[in-house]
Amino acid sequence: MSDTPLIQLKGVTKLYGEGATALLALKGVDLSIEAGDFVAIMGPSGSGKSTAMNTLGCLDTPTTGEYIFNGVHVEKLSRDQRALLRRSYLGFVFQGFNLLARTSAQENVELPLLYRGEPTKQRHAAARKALESVGLGGWEHHTPAELSGGQQQRVAIARAIVTEPAVLLADEPTGNLDTQRSHEIMHLLWKLNIDRGITVLMVTHEADMAAYAKRIVRFVDGVVAHDERNPHPAALSTTDAAALPETSQKEAA
Ligand code: ADP
Repeated sequence: MSDTPLIQLKGVTKLYGEGATALLALKGVDLSIEAGDFVAIMGPSGSGKSTAMNTLGCLDTPTTGEYIFNGVHVEKLSRDQRALLRRSYLGFVFQGFNLLARTSAQENVELPLLYRGEPTKQRHAAARKALESVGLGGWEHHTPAELSGGQQQRVAIARAIVTEPAVLLADEPTGNLDTQRSHEIMHLLWKLNIDRGITVLMVTHEADMAAYAKRIVRFVDGVVAHDERNPHPAALSTTDAAALPETSQKEAA
């Protein structure tokens, strides 16, 4: 691994609005993230977590400061260049799954490849493989309405990883799920991090879910207030984990 971090925020500020209604959402954020890390981003509502994630996800640019991704100064890129960087290196997972309704799991997962202009055959094969890797082999033709919340989030994760991103950005990925499904989703993210070396950045309000991360960064009032390594990231027991695909079959039965 090179000595240069994959991600660096240097003195990042973000100002929303202007004049009397101006609001400084980020007040000078410094953050370095190595490739292969798994970072949980925590903090009270309004502390700047989403603003930081939008910046890290190249959806928005800092008002001042630097964002260096893999040696590239993102704050100097055009909108189109940022979109290209997003498509090439980043995968996104949201609290509300954001799947297309009335569209099969297979087609949902294929979408990012369609935008990339990949040929049909490759798209089909890659989507099937991604669905299999999240324990949804055999569920390709089900629409979101025919899947449980946990399964929908797994489809969303398959869609996020089908392009083989370097970084997965997950915004409260377990916020709409019950405890057991939440742990299954966390186990999946943990496995993607461990097995494939995907860097994971995840916003969560739940300490139980943050416990899967290797590092916990806490935002308070627009700055990083605490940043600590987690010496023993949680994981489901081997027995529980082995039962995952079977659990998913039961869920929708
Ligand atoms: P968190 O994700 O920790 O809840 P946010 O990053 O969403 O925090 O918000 C940080 C601050 O910036 C809050 O005070 C919020 O109201 C404000 N804010 C966020 N987005 C906007 C926006 N688009 N326009 C104006 N203010 C915003």
